[in-house]
Amino acid sequence: MNVLVINCGSSSLKYQVIDSVTEKVEAKGLCERIGIDGNFTYQPAGGEKEESAKPMPTHNEAVSFVIEALTNEKTGVLKSLDEIDCVGHRIVHGGTNLTHSYVVTEEVVKEIEDCADLAPLHNPAHVLGIRACQKLMPNTPMVVVFDTAFQQTMPAKAYLYAIPYKYFEEDKVRKYGFHGTSHMFVSQRALELMGNPEHSKLIVCHLGNGASVSCEVDGKCQENSMGLTPLDGLVMGTRCGDIDPSVVEFLNKKHGLSVEEILKIFNKESGVYAISDGKSDFRDIAGAAEKGDERAQLALDMFAYRVAKYIGSYVAAMNGVDAICFTAGIGENNGMIRKMICDYLTFLGLELDDEANKVIGDEKLISTADSKVKAYVIPTNEELAIARETVALVK
Ligand code: ADP
Repeated sequence: MNVLVINCGSSSLKYQVIDSVTEKVEAKGLCERIGIDGNFTYQPAGGEKEESAKPMPTHNEAVSFVIEALTNEKTGVLKSLDEIDCVGHRIVHGGTNLTHSYVVTEEVVKEIEDCADLAPLHNPAHVLGIRACQKLMPNTPMVVVFDTAFQQTMPAKAYLYAIPYKYFEEDKVRKYGFHGTSHMFVSQRALELMGNPEHSKLIVCHLGNGASVSCEVDGKCQENSMGLTPLDGLVMGTRCGDIDPSVVEFLNKKHGLSVEEILKIFNKESGVYAISDGKSDFRDIAGAAEKGDERAQLALDMFAYRVAKYIGSYVAAMNGVDAICFTAGIGENNGMIRKMICDYLTFLGLELDDEANKVIGDEKLISTADSKVKAYVIPTNEELAIARETVALVK
């Protein structure tokens, strides 16, 4: 089956066509600046990347361009639209009701719209993407896969905030956790690599520009470092992660900043970007630190320290750990950060294999044969996970 995987933002649409049998990407690309001036990229497997300015006032035009490119006589990978067997949409927030993946129905779309106040930048955009696909492919089955679904097995003691209960009951204010598709993909792969042991305890560190840690007992998620929104938890590229909520009141009183302004600072001007004085890409930060930039070094130290603290707390939450997995841009590619994190964890009997830890972007066991806790690099693949879910539901 050919699965079209769609990841819609408010002004962007990422897409991939995946062959569900070979699990190979046949083509991929990106529509950017939707509603502005429109920019389109398309790359067939093994072919050249094409990029062009294309007017895209709405997501409808974006999806039209995707289909046009995929079925183009010269460079397309499909003969016609009919060769798209199903579409899988990535959805950020499923609230409390959408607890797994679903075949798209009007009811499901309404539920996604209903929890838009929990993800105001994302959910409305996802619905636009679903509608655009329905318009152009009315008979193609579609599936929605949620970033929040994998975390639905978290126990109440983990997801509740200790604030008046009515805010949970009436407004659904609670921890949801994010990057669920990635945590699911990586933890399932880790279990496979470990030979699917019984009573497994895993920790997955998804370390990208956005970053989160999760833990799984017997493959079921128990914790995720993100919260009601993806602002919580680790120190990230530009997000502050854990912070005393009173800082909001302090900055408001001291500088007259509104809640919106402060949240914008927490989301876009904080994290390692703030500490390193203007760098959010870990390659730049590591480069500066190497040259003796103390603030860049501090940013790296804070990042690794926070990850290690989360790992420590999840070891306590699970009363043990069998394997720790690193994934996403930093987790897959930056051995120095992995080592900085693992250096905090020698008390667990975790012994890093320095040679193996040189790996960049490939799956690898990076702990020694004698290490009491295993450490893995496992490249994430959210699109493939979505394609698998989509095919499973459509079948
Ligand atoms: P997101 O999907 O949240 O935007 P990514 O998972 O792509 O983030 O991760 C982006 C981060 O990964 C950046 O900080 C970047 O520096 C880091 N990264 C990506 N490739 C490499 C690499 N080869 N070496 C070191 N860091 C890398």
